[in-house]
Amino acid sequence: MIFKVFKKQELARLHELLAVNIVVGPVVKGKDRNGKPLYDFDVVYDFGELALDYTQTVHSPKRFVLPYHETLSTFAVSRESWEKHVDLNVYRPLVFFGMHACDINALNKLDLVLAQSTYPNPYYMGKRKNLFIVGIDCKPEPQCFCRSMGTDSAIHGFDLFLTDLGGRYFAEILSATAFDLLNQIKCTDPSAKDLATYKQVTSGKNKHYTATVDTSDLTKILDLEFESPAWDAWGEKCLSCGTCANVCPTCYCYGVEEHVDLDLTHASKTKSLHSCNLIDFAKVAGGHNFRPKSASRLKYRYYHKHRGFVEAFEESLCVGCGRCGAACLADITPPEVIASVRGKE
Ligand code: SF4
Ligand code: SF4
Repeated sequence: MIFKVFKKQELARLHELLAVNIVVGPVVKGKDRNGKPLYDFDVVYDFGELALDYTQTVHSPKRFVLPYHETLSTFAVSRESWEKHVDLNVYRPLVFFGMHACDINALNKLDLVLAQSTYPNPYYMGKRKNLFIVGIDCKPEPQCFCRSMGTDSAIHGFDLFLTDLGGRYFAEILSATAFDLLNQIKCTDPSAKDLATYKQVTSGKNKHYTATVDTSDLTKILDLEFESPAWDAWGEKCLSCGTCANVCPTCYCYGVEEHVDLDLTHASKTKSLHSCNLIDFAKVAGGHNFRPKSASRLKYRYYHKHRGFVEAFEESLCVGCGRCGAACLADITPPEVIASVRGKE
C-alpha cells in the first residue's frame, strides 16, 4: 500500500477529476424527529452536496450494485420466432465518494457469494467491476459494533481511503488509477508528524465504541442454542416487516418473477430483493410455508449471518453497522439478541 498526504482543499479537485463518471456519495436527506440530519447515498452533481462528515446513512450503498428491483431479461415472441434480450444494467463507471469501512467490508462479503462463488452473478459483477471507491474514516455511532465483527477498518476493496488529520487527509492508495489521480493534485509523502497523527486518530476512534457483540465461539453457541426460548421471545416482538434486511448492507436474498403479457407477445423476468423475515419468504408451491412463525424466520436470519455464512466462508455476514437495530420499530438489535441467546440478559 502507498500512503500520501494532501491538504483538504485538494479534495474538491479530486472530486472534479472523478466527476467525469457518475459520483455517488453521502448527502443530507432531511431531519429525524430529534432534528438530527438523516443521511443517505445518492448521485451527487456538485462537490458541495457531499456530506463527508456524515454519521451513518439510513440505507446501505448496496442498491447501486444490487438494486431492489431489476429486470434480468425480456422476451419478444411472434408466430415465427422469439428473441431474448439480456441487459446487465451497467452504464457508466460509478464512483463511491465517501464510503465507511463497514460498507466497504460489506461489499467484500457480497463479493464472496456473488462474484467469487461457484455461480457468480453477472448482474452484480458487471456493476461491481465498474466501481471506483473512495473510503473515508468515521466516528462510531452508539449502534456501531463493527469493531466486534473485525470490520472497523478496511484493508482491501477500495481504491483510496482517506483519514481526516485536521487540515489534511491521510490517503491510503490501493489501485494504479488512484495513484494516477493523486499525481494530478498537490500531495506529498507523509511526514513523521503525519504518521504520528494518523496513529493517534485511528486509536482515538476505538474509545467511541459503546455497542459490542461477543463473537467468541458464536457458531458453536448458535448450534447449542437452536431451541433457546430467546428466539421465541424475540419472535413475539418482531413485526415481520423486513426493514432490517432492507437497510442491511449484506442481505442479498431475492425472488424472481416472470410476467407474460396477455397477448403472449412479450415477457419479462425480474428480480426483487426479499427479506427472510417476511411472512411469505419460505412459502413454496402448493401454499406450504415451512417458516410460518416470526420466531423461526428471525432465528434463521441470525443463523445465516452468524452460522451458515461462517461455515461457508470463514467469516460472518454481518459487518456490525447497527443499521438493522436502528431502523427496527420493535427495537430488536443484534447485540441484544446475541447476548440473550448466550444467556447474558
Ligand atoms: S427484526 Fe425488526 S426490522 Fe426486522 S422484521 Fe422484525 S420488526 Fe422488522
Ligand atoms: S445484520 Fe444489522 S448490523 Fe449486521 S450488517 Fe446487517 S444491518 Fe448491519
